[in-house]
Amino acid sequence: MRDRSTRSYSWWILGFLLSGLGVILAAQRQALPQLSALGVPGFFALFGAGALWCGLRVFDQRPLPKLALLPPLIWAVGLPFAYPSYALRQIDYNLAIGTMTLLIGLDLSRTSSRELSPRLCIALICLFETVVSYSQAIAIFAMRDEIGQGPLRGWLTFAPFQSAVAMVAIVVLGILMIGERSERRLRELAMNDQLSGVLNRRGFFEASAARLAELSGTSCEIAIALFDIDYFKAINDKYGHPAGDKVIAEFAKRAAHAIRQGDILGRIGGEEFALLLPNTTLNDARLVVDRIRAAFGDAPILHDKIEIAATASAGLSIDRAHGIVLDRLISAADSALYAAKKAGRSRTSILHAVTPADRDAAPIVRSSP
Ligand code: GH3
Ligand code: MG
Ligand code: MG
Repeated sequence: MRDRSTRSYSWWILGFLLSGLGVILAAQRQALPQLSALGVPGFFALFGAGALWCGLRVFDQRPLPKLALLPPLIWAVGLPFAYPSYALRQIDYNLAIGTMTLLIGLDLSRTSSRELSPRLCIALICLFETVVSYSQAIAIFAMRDEIGQGPLRGWLTFAPFQSAVAMVAIVVLGILMIGERSERRLRELAMNDQLSGVLNRRGFFEASAARLAELSGTSCEIAIALFDIDYFKAINDKYGHPAGDKVIAEFAKRAAHAIRQGDILGRIGGEEFALLLPNTTLNDARLVVDRIRAAFGDAPILHDKIEIAATASAGLSIDRAHGIVLDRLISAADSALYAAKKAGRSRTSILHAVTPADRDAAPIVRSSP
């Protein structure tokens, strides 16, 4: 009902159907002794668990796990020795299913983040099930003569109940895992700009505000640069709107290559970009800004075999992190950008406010080509 284009659901449906059939057939052990002796219920349950694993791999867009065939193989190899005895079949099955949950648990824990996530919880449950299954195999081996043709006795009778509880928990956690991913995808759509691939306005302001909050207690300096492509209307008019789009995308691409790790780049308007440079000096910020302008301006942009030359102007402002106000820093950068445009474009202007006293003083704008 949720999303018919997702192939992992088909694997999960198959997995639950097979596991369910396996349980029903295993419960009919008395009525269908031949089937049990041939291990049919075990194959259903194990292939079912393997299909659940395949569904997880498809969900992650990773290849199907060949190792999912190992547990049914363990079951098949053990059967000739185990088939006359219920106790021995139980040992064989527990080894096989314990190996399956071990493989799934390890696979999931390798792909989950450090913090407690639904995925990590599923991994832990799988690993716990491995401990339960292997302990059961050992316990049944010790009591194999006593158990004979069954049924199991003592704490072993609780094993199916706990595995049913584990299954329900995995289903609930699985739904949380799916929801978490859709939420993350929606967030990405809401925060990123499709044309340029960098953060959009909302994304830039959210990421910047979060970074500023982290740094607000420190004494480092934070810079903001605003970029605006020069004579962009003329590019649109001369080469067409798609060419203009290409120029915008190319600016983002070249800028993204030129920034440092930790700098935050976003497209905040049509052909306007903002860059937050946390923990920087004025000189370093200036180097980055000029590197971006050079990367953009020095080589023409190729669109439909036509070379388009373009430049960008930048306004830069810097302030101490302590007590910083993002809007203020941006409007200072905006004034600097305006000055750069006025002074002839294709240059960087700086509006510097380091001390609180400076913040309230009249802005000093310096411009350099
Ligand atoms: P200046 O040097 O003063 O910046 O001149 P300019 O022509 O670049 O002026 P301005 O910055 O005001 O130009 C913005 C233009 O960008 C207006 C609009 O048509 C165009 N634009 C805005 N968004 C897009 C877009 O997504 N794609 C394209 N192709 N053009 C856009
Ligand atoms: Mg503009
Ligand atoms: Mg412009």
